[in-house]
Amino acid sequence: MKKSQTTDSDNPLNSYRERFLSLKRDLDAINYFCKGTLLKRMMKCGQKRCACQRVPSKRHGPYFEWTYKAKGKTVNIRFQPEEAPVYQNAVEEYGKLKSILTRMERLSRTALARLARQALSNSRKI
Ligand SMILES: [Zn+2]
Repeated sequence: MKKSQTTDSDNPLNSYRERFLSLKRDLDAINYFCKGTLLKRMMKCGQKRCACQRVPSKRHGPYFEWTYKAKGKTVNIRFQPEEAPVYQNAVEEYGKLKSILTRMERLSRTALARLARQALSNSRKI
């Protein structure tokens, strides 16, 4: 049997589609995420006689804080050291999410350019 000139595997659009679907499956594995920054800081208290006012190493803490922007405002959420892994995980998930989205977008641009060329050449054949 004679091979047709363009098989499915020859068409890059099929491989774009496969890669896109695979990235969508990666998205499925994303857990709760948060953007923003996690801070660990030592604080001064309000008491004038406390050593923390003069000696940095006598400051209290560490206190953990999650800082992010929402509707143009900075939001600070204090949390306990025991809660840190939860937020740390969420920050890592956000990093994964961003990386998947970046790859999906790049792939989309390539695929869209190809689809657009295809649409153009199809319309010219008629
Ligand atoms: Zn103090």
